[in-house]
Amino acid sequence: MKLTRREAIGLAAAAMLKGQTAGSIPSWKTELRELAPDVFAYVQGGGPGIPNLSVSNAGVIAGPAHMMAIDSLGAPLHAKAFIAAAKRAVPGKPFDRLALTHHHIDHIAGNRYFLPAEIVGHSYCREAMLATKIATPLWEKRDGWADGTEERKLYPPVTTFNDMVTYRYGDLAVELIFNGPAHTWGDVMVYIPRHKILFAGDIAFFYVAPFCQNAHVTKWLGAIDRIMAMDVDVIVPGHGPLGGKKELKEMADYLRLFKAQARQRFDAGMSAGKAAADISLGHFDEWIGAPEKLVMNTVRLYREFDGTIQPDVDDAGMRAATKEFNAIRSSQK
Ligand SMILES: [Zn+2]
Repeated sequence: MKLTRREAIGLAAAAMLKGQTAGSIPSWKTELRELAPDVFAYVQGGGPGIPNLSVSNAGVIAGPAHMMAIDSLGAPLHAKAFIAAAKRAVPGKPFDRLALTHHHIDHIAGNRYFLPAEIVGHSYCREAMLATKIATPLWEKRDGWADGTEERKLYPPVTTFNDMVTYRYGDLAVELIFNGPAHTWGDVMVYIPRHKILFAGDIAFFYVAPFCQNAHVTKWLGAIDRIMAMDVDVIVPGHGPLGGKKELKEMADYLRLFKAQARQRFDAGMSAGKAAADISLGHFDEWIGAPEKLVMNTVRLYREFDGTIQPDVDDAGMRAATKEFNAIRSSQK
């Protein structure tokens, strides 16, 4: 079924509102949705009580003879389900290209299933993937995630860029735009100007608490401002249901509030672990995965405040703060 952009946006909005009351967290299902002719979002389902860690979204652009994928998802069975859905929607057109939004495992571990497609990403994404250590050669068996026979080898981008690149699928322009540092040092968004659709990667988390482990929160807020200034109607987030600028603004509010809360405690000389146990985010505490992100996001903000922030994760800082946080939480039980 071919939809006009207006029809697709109407459907997306109606689907989002179904089962959702003001201020509450919606539930959403796994589906490949046509947002405009030849432009599809693949959203993995979720909602309250369903952990979202490593459950990300992806996209497909269809051309006259080929498809381009936007991210490959993480778990092998997630990637295979995505590919099967894309092939059903766009039969007879193999993937010729895979664009990566960033290096996190839940967006790139499925890359091998898209080969021999050309893998494209930011140069930092390639660097970070080359530096990623794989603990075990095979995926562990897990229902709905992996059969246990799949290799864990990573396939980094072979084509890299630093600013932006435009591909054309037929006469549809597909812009890959660097908009970082934000969630990582190599965030790339995929923008379809004709249909005002933006695949934001993990620059956008809707109703799922943002994951700040590799982030620069203040610069991330700047990246959000740049999206706000773009001609965009529909945003496909890296995590959560489809949305638009309204949902992106809510996520910016989460980051702003978290930063202010962490800053007060940093200025008062409180350690990161203590601060994480003390921070309260009001209605954002209800966002999916919010409690699990407290330590990670506090540690990351502390590195920003003390000027020692690096693109890589602060593993030692995370370990120390987690230990302290867990000790406080267990003493409160
Ligand atoms: Zn990510």
